[in-house]
Amino acid sequence: MSTAPDAHPASSNFLKGIIEADLAAGKYADRHDQMAHPLPAVVTRFPPEPNGYLHIGHAKSICLNFGLARDYAGRCHMRFDDTNPEKEEQEYVDTILDSVKWLGFSWNHDNREHLYYASDYFDKFYAIAEYLISAGHAYVDSQSADEMQKNRGNFGEPGKNSPFRDRPVAESLDLLYRMKAGEFKDGAHIVRAKIDMASPNMNLRDPAIYRIRHAHHHRTGDDWCIYPMYDYAHPLEDAIENVSHSFCTLEFQDHRPFYDWVLERAAEGGFFKKPLPQQIEFARLNLTYAVTSKRKLLQMVQEKIVDGWDDPRMPTIVGLRRRGYTPESIQLFCDRIGVSKSDSWIDMSTLEGALRDDLDAKAPRATAVLRPLKLIIDNFPDELQVECSAPVHPHHPERGNRSFPITKELWIEEEDFMEAPSKGYFRLYPGNKVRLRYGYVVECTGCTKDDAGRVIAVHCTYFPDSKSGTEGSANYKVKGNIHWVSSTHALQAEVRLYDRLFTDANPDAGGKDFKAALNPNAKEVITAYLEHGMKHALPDEKFQFERHGYFVADRVDSKPGVPVFNRVVTLKDSWGK
Ligand code: ATP
Ligand code: MG
Repeated sequence: MSTAPDAHPASSNFLKGIIEADLAAGKYADRHDQMAHPLPAVVTRFPPEPNGYLHIGHAKSICLNFGLARDYAGRCHMRFDDTNPEKEEQEYVDTILDSVKWLGFSWNHDNREHLYYASDYFDKFYAIAEYLISAGHAYVDSQSADEMQKNRGNFGEPGKNSPFRDRPVAESLDLLYRMKAGEFKDGAHIVRAKIDMASPNMNLRDPAIYRIRHAHHHRTGDDWCIYPMYDYAHPLEDAIENVSHSFCTLEFQDHRPFYDWVLERAAEGGFFKKPLPQQIEFARLNLTYAVTSKRKLLQMVQEKIVDGWDDPRMPTIVGLRRRGYTPESIQLFCDRIGVSKSDSWIDMSTLEGALRDDLDAKAPRATAVLRPLKLIIDNFPDELQVECSAPVHPHHPERGNRSFPITKELWIEEEDFMEAPSKGYFRLYPGNKVRLRYGYVVECTGCTKDDAGRVIAVHCTYFPDSKSGTEGSANYKVKGNIHWVSSTHALQAEVRLYDRLFTDANPDAGGKDFKAALNPNAKEVITAYLEHGMKHALPDEKFQFERHGYFVADRVDSKPGVPVFNRVVTLKDSWGK
């Protein structure tokens, strides 16, 4: 499975098909920007609103926009769609930039940064609104919000023209100036495009383009008290930046006629040259066992259902990162799911599978005992320590070996001993032999219990000539092979066993209360015993704990010499069964 971009990518998805047809037709060839720099034939953009943290759904959009630009020698703009003052904050701008970079993408192209803010275009949006009014394509409406709602009609029923629709251009212009000057309260007037109140497409029934909002903007401060509507601003942002292909999610399909209308009118007014940007819709990512609505994610943070935006159970990019996901695994996931034109659900196991495939090839191996039970080798000399050696990675001998001592007292997993074995159980039980992985073959002799009858230690004897890697080892044929750590050398560490945040595959489908489907076992904190070399694990470093799964040293809570581990994912999917 290769994820490297090839020089001539096949049209493996319909977006590539569109781009390749445009390239073949020379649709966006030979363009120059306002400063006479030549423009690539493919210019895309990733346009988040800085009102929350990015999640896995955004990752799909990022991989698409930046990935297609890369594959077709174009460029992708990082643009903040910050036209909505109330909910936007610098904190969000910072984390969004960080997440895009971490995912492995850059908005630098030919040594120029392409980081843009829609708020930098406020003057231009305004000038175009002024033009639209002058040209008779827009007007100031002074109906109340209720009246406007009532006169909009609905699907079966045409709307009614506003009584202000035909007011003189000069009157609308005067009102626009005074709206901008701050003379009116929020909602007193609104600027609307003059299209068709009877259009079967509700989005063309004189949509609003500017509204009054006396609100402080995180970048423009109090310069403005009128702000453009998303559907008006977005096509203009694309045209100002010479975007060629403007990819967005399917719910904007019905908005496309207005997108085109805005650009056609602005081009007639001389604001833009053709070819104009084109909007192309694709299916959004819906992931099972997760919610990807910013509002619901915010709610979980605010109600402390999770420990912040970067809680390793969150589907946010910062959460996935802390959980132990790699940028490569997320890119691989996005490649594998592809793009389509109809909404569907992608199973969480696809994301986890991409992660396993990425980590399996990279992560060094280590031993960890998560549910410890004492194993005592009765015939092992008290003070003896014998070094055992194991590969850092089984498929990469060049990465060398790790070593750890075996001693008389060890920790093994509770479940690797059964006093009365069930059928097909090959691990430790009285009279049975197993191999202590990378060490010796031992034979179980029994166990000791506390007053309550709980097993507190297992006893065995070892065969000194059975050590792994020595000639004698071949003489021992055993079915069980269990892992262990020396109780005198092991590193005691906090380990957090994370699992899916929801027990329901579609926690918020059909208006369900997603909080009813929270998985109470999505986080368990245990004290585990690890191979002593784990003491040197660095924050963000990932390992495969043999037989258990992939783990990462937590990037926030790990201290030098005292790592804390998060379970990224188990070795096998246990949810499908
Ligand atoms: P909001 O409800 O705040 O509009 P949003 O998820 O649309 O939330 P934006 O910041 O507007 O957030 O999204 C930025 C880009 O990411 C948009 O182009 C949007 O289409 C895309 N995007 C958002 N969610 C998904 C998703 N689940 N799958 C694919 N793309 C997505
Ligand atoms: Mg949005």
